[in-house]
Amino acid sequence: MDLISLIFPKTCLGCGREGKYICQSCINKLVLLKQLCPYCEKASTDGVTHIKCLKKLRLSGVFSIWPYEGVIRTAILKLKYKFAKEIAKELSEYMANYLKNQPIFPKNLTLTPIPLYFLRENFRGFNQSELVGEPLTKKMGWDFNSDILIRKRFRRPQTELKGKERRRNIKGVFSMNPSYKLQTTSYILFDDVYTTGSTLKEAAKVLKRNGAKEVWGLTIAR
Ligand SMILES: [Zn+2]
Ligand SMILES: [Zn+2]
Repeated sequence: MDLISLIFPKTCLGCGREGKYICQSCINKLVLLKQLCPYCEKASTDGVTHIKCLKKLRLSGVFSIWPYEGVIRTAILKLKYKFAKEIAKELSEYMANYLKNQPIFPKNLTLTPIPLYFLRENFRGFNQSELVGEPLTKKMGWDFNSDILIRKRFRRPQTELKGKERRRNIKGVFSMNPSYKLQTTSYILFDDVYTTGSTLKEAAKVLKRNGAKEVWGLTIAR
């Protein structure tokens, strides 16, 4: 045990039990999320976009692992501040265990986290989706690349806005990094929380316009 963990023993963010930030029993308490088609929001196995909802620039599907509540909600909120790296590591382990039993995504994937606007990222020093996405990618045997998309302009944080406003606010906000050449045909856009899906949908359009064959969305929670 290192000195830091002796002084600040890890306790579960959900129940206070010592040992981890996220304990297995708090994870087990979470209900299974019903997966939805990201476009009509009706039930769909594994969150796959219905054939009738699938258009040229659309996501092939979005899979969210847990409901945004309990220990997961607290962990995601904490991810932006203290002990972020440690919490991210634990989250990525639980996610990989979950995903390994669910053959949802195609093979030969590149995972890219939804980028933050660079000033915001610098202020915080990191992108929380990158922090979870990178170790998760390793465990899943996918490729990781956080330099595919660029977030162009400063906009109001999506959390301050509702449905229609969110879509308008995010429109045209992403572009392709000019120095990146598409290497695989399938991509996973990774974000922490799925709300209206407008961020993932907008980012998917950019990848698809630039030649990606399939773009999936993956979030920790919804
Ligand atoms: Zn717990
Ligand atoms: Zn649908």
